[in-house]
Amino acid sequence: MPILANIAASPRVKSAADLARAILRTTLDLALPPLCASCREPVEGRGLCPSCWSKLSFITRPYCERLGIPFAYDPGAGILSMEAIADPPSYNRARAAVRFDEISRALVHSLKYGDRLDLAPMMGRWMSRAGHEILAEADALVPVPLHWRRQWARRFNQSAMLATAISAQSGVAIAARALTRIKATVQQVGLSRSERASNVQGAFKVLEESKGAVVGRRLVLIDDVLTSGATVDGCARALNRAGAANVDVLIFARVADPGRTAI
Ligand SMILES: [Zn+2]
Repeated sequence: MPILANIAASPRVKSAADLARAILRTTLDLALPPLCASCREPVEGRGLCPSCWSKLSFITRPYCERLGIPFAYDPGAGILSMEAIADPPSYNRARAAVRFDEISRALVHSLKYGDRLDLAPMMGRWMSRAGHEILAEADALVPVPLHWRRQWARRFNQSAMLATAISAQSGVAIAARALTRIKATVQQVGLSRSERASNVQGAFKVLEESKGAVVGRRLVLIDDVLTSGATVDGCARALNRAGAANVDVLIFARVADPGRTAI
């Protein structure tokens, strides 16, 4: 039974109960057609049904070259958004594959809480496309770390899953331990912009033994969702302080108001 052998060998199977659950899940996977990650209709292959796929909102130019926020009209090459000038982030450039909306939220939630790790290669492919310019100049990918307690509860880090997919497609290595979350922050959901910033204040650190993965290197932070940008900003600040040569950000979905105009 090669499938059962694979399940038992999986690093996520740590106990007999885990094994039973994994076998049940695999049996269901084999017996039932895969479901659309958003509307849960059966689909051919994996991922989204054609209807949900057509509603996805990919982010393409024109956008702010610094923050990656889409513009409603093309202001010309290299124009920055008002936010990028008034409140420049700690990172150099941010890129995102899609806007955060009903469909992309369903994908993120399925990956994070729904055991739909099969979605990571597809989401990573869209991210690789959105970030091809920054990936071409990158030395390593740095997934935004979870606090060890949250990672233990969830069993995996969704940003690391996305980084693994992007690394396989782009050939850029992963520096998984470059950054450590030293503070167990509360969830950012429901917090104001300034509360989000103070929530992640001092949350990330480059440990002494990780400096070699950071000093003088061009790094790309990987995360699933960008809302206020406070989390990746805190990460970028820690990496810059430790001596990174450049820090860019690559996100699956970002919150972006429709109809943004350039200055
Ligand atoms: Zn669907």
